Amino acid sequence: DHAETKEDRMKQATDNSNSIATLTLEQETNPWEAQSLRFDEAARRLNLDAGIWKVLRYPSREIIVHIPVGMDDGSIEVFTGYRVQHSSSRGPCKGGIRYAPDVSLDEVRALASWMTWKCAVVNIPFGGAKGGVICDPKKMSQGELERMTRRYTAELIEFLGPEKDVPAPDMGTDEQTMAWIMDTYSMHMRQTMTSVVTGKPVSLGGSRGRKEATGRGVSVVTDEAMKHLNMRPEDTKVVVQGFGNVGSNTAHFLWKKGYKVVGIAEWDGGLYNANGLDISELLEYRAKNGTIHGFKEGEAYDKDELLLSAVDVLIPAATENVITSRNAAKLRCRVLVEGANGPTTPIADEILADKGVFVIPDILANTGGVTTSYFEWVQDRMGYFWTEKEVNERLDRIMTDSFQDVLQYSIAHGVNNRIAAYMLAVDRVAYTTKQRGFYA
Ligand code: GLU
Repeated sequence: DHAETKEDRMKQATDNSNSIATLTLEQETNPWEAQSLRFDEAARRLNLDAGIWKVLRYPSREIIVHIPVGMDDGSIEVFTGYRVQHSSSRGPCKGGIRYAPDVSLDEVRALASWMTWKCAVVNIPFGGAKGGVICDPKKMSQGELERMTRRYTAELIEFLGPEKDVPAPDMGTDEQTMAWIMDTYSMHMRQTMTSVVTGKPVSLGGSRGRKEATGRGVSVVTDEAMKHLNMRPEDTKVVVQGFGNVGSNTAHFLWKKGYKVVGIAEWDGGLYNANGLDISELLEYRAKNGTIHGFKEGEAYDKDELLLSAVDVLIPAATENVITSRNAAKLRCRVLVEGANGPTTPIADEILADKGVFVIPDILANTGGVTTSYFEWVQDRMGYFWTEKEVNERLDRIMTDSFQDVLQYSIAHGVNNRIAAYMLAVDRVAYTTKQRGFYA
């Protein structure tokens, strides 16, 4: 039954009459469908061998675990968790773990594939993976989160390892989560093994600069886009959607570089100031008050309207499906920088292309995180740690070079930046996949 569906989908994928115009809203906002559509288009344009196409279209391994956890009130809860390993062709699988109530297997599949493409775009020696647990971390105690994390790690023990699969933080997880994973793995191995996971605290083998790295990378590619489009940061108005790790660091870096960050759209409402918000003060305010709302230098603003305001640069930095067939036509930005994974649907892609919006796609824009994760893994394995300056310089160089690689590819092949990034990535992964051959 699975093989039949697979054949059908392959036929559909290679059939040119298959068009995004036939997508239902449910398909449009399914991250796995969105990923597959872009992958198929890249594969078609690359004239990819039909066999390799089939190999790279699906994850190589999907693990589902049911995690029993003793809750604080004495009851037992069972959480469902996933780890999807899409490809290990170019190196160990790499990718974050997400804790959220709406995690699904299709979402984790998409995120795992995106990790493969991201690592290939920036040319670091990793494949792609992603993990997720269906839970609401905001409603769980530290003790419950620790027990859930340790049991999830234990259930996956034979699939993880510095040379197998290396997790990292994502939405709902942080440095502390990574420390628990490192400790649980190390206890099973009977030795401390820091390189099994990245995004750890600096005191436990983490890398300097890792926490800020995704936002830093987003700011570097934004700079490159400004140079390419002859725009000046001082004259550039920016709205950032999301103020978590990625959004807040992105806003902070851009503010320090002189951009006017006029709006922040959070999950529970927006904040706006036409002359630009002082992001440093806003971060202090948030640290003290636990929210951005009530910050005196900004006015409350509808979070959905904020996305549609007339700004130069819009940066979705939260979650998937923020720009869809419902709002894409109303967007007024000139440049869209995807700090989040999958914020734009394939239908929205077409609408934005018609409008001439310059898009820096997720698999390029948000690779600062995984690139610095690579640095962390390297430092852990050699046991010698770099200064923050060394980390940042290496990151900036990779981000700048990768932006140029994608831009030149898009010009040479007459495709938009997203398809250029996919083509570059798929071509690199296809090459190593063919070179390694198939063990039978
Ligand atoms: N979760 C982050 C991402 O989506 C980081 C992954 C990593 O560092 O391995 O890229």
